[in-house]
Amino acid sequence: MTTLLLKNILLDGRTTNILIKDGLFADLNAAADAAADSIYDASGEAIVPSFFNTHTHAAMTLLRGYADDMELFTWLNDHIWPFEAKMTAQDIYNGSRLAVLEMIRSGTTFFCDMYWMMEETAKAVEEMGIRAALGVTLMDRLGEEKIAADLRFLESWKSPCANRVELAIAPHAVYTAGPELLERCAQAARSNGQRLTIHVSETRQEVEDCIRARGMSPVRWLDKLGVLGPNVIAAHCVYVDPEEMDIMAERGVTVAHNPCSNMKLASGIFPAAKFAASGCNITIGTDGTSSNNNLDMREEMKFASLLAKVSNNSETLPAQEAFKWATANGAKAFGLNAGVIEKSALADAVLLDLSNERLTPNYNLVSNWVYAADSRAISGVLCDGRFVMHKGIVENEEEILAKARESVARLAG
Ligand SMILES: [Zn+2]
Repeated sequence: MTTLLLKNILLDGRTTNILIKDGLFADLNAAADAAADSIYDASGEAIVPSFFNTHTHAAMTLLRGYADDMELFTWLNDHIWPFEAKMTAQDIYNGSRLAVLEMIRSGTTFFCDMYWMMEETAKAVEEMGIRAALGVTLMDRLGEEKIAADLRFLESWKSPCANRVELAIAPHAVYTAGPELLERCAQAARSNGQRLTIHVSETRQEVEDCIRARGMSPVRWLDKLGVLGPNVIAAHCVYVDPEEMDIMAERGVTVAHNPCSNMKLASGIFPAAKFAASGCNITIGTDGTSSNNNLDMREEMKFASLLAKVSNNSETLPAQEAFKWATANGAKAFGLNAGVIEKSALADAVLLDLSNERLTPNYNLVSNWVYAADSRAISGVLCDGRFVMHKGIVENEEEILAKARESVARLAG
């Protein structure tokens, strides 16, 4: 059993001592002299839940700034996919470590990924101490041999850190995965007990093409194929009508809203107010760093809230709700008792330095955190009861950056 005592820490407006035991919050009102293996004096710091990023492509950090300012299909076909074809396992590992470093520094302790060579990203996550659901990407163009091998990998692979790292099945989208592959993915996810994550109705063109090819919109098409269920995380969902929202709510689908990516690629405006009223579990994702271009969930919350307001009214998506989308709702989608600072919840959290100028004055910490701060305010990050960033330091930072630069020199050179 390992224990950690956080002394003199601000929690929900009051100063307390928090005892963490075996990765869980054990006591939120511990005695100042409670016995613990290690003690951290958090005077002048506040604790808030860490972020759960429900849609990203981690190793795309290597493509940050590589191709900007174009629409989705040109961006994918002419720039992203040709670059990715050159990436080796080492590159995926290096890019994933860069991503995890950035996530830790910006307060994220969980991400749902969709990318290639997931065993490499798994290694990065296992070593660096955070959590992930790693989506193995499937598309028809991979060919039957590769698809069958990936499905076997999904069925048999298990992380040595299974409490933190799991696989998910990630058919890319309805325009890259035909009905047979989508049905196989849904079946595999059910029999392996895994989550299924997919891009859904990201652009108007995707919806129009689907109606032309399948006679119905992507949400209806996925429902017809039996894909939708409580294990599904649907990314984007920009062009979803009220009837489709009802279908998604009824099936228990989680939505991953990606405001920065949707704005940068001019994909469209997520119908936040209608979705919030639909009963769907709504979460936030950053998408990859070549359509964002960072993995900063705090920034993403602010964009989500501002976009919701400008497309509806100023009362839409208040700070507290945006914060919940980025934390507790994301944890819930992955069956994790986390995203809250409560007894028995997973001890995943961010420590904020209250002397930071953007947290001053501190009328309302959540308001400051969503609207005012940036990640410089983060002094520490805990995952599974362990510091993954301690007093501003993440282990091996210099080496991680050097390795990422090495990969990029080869790939882009
Ligand atoms: Zn994406």
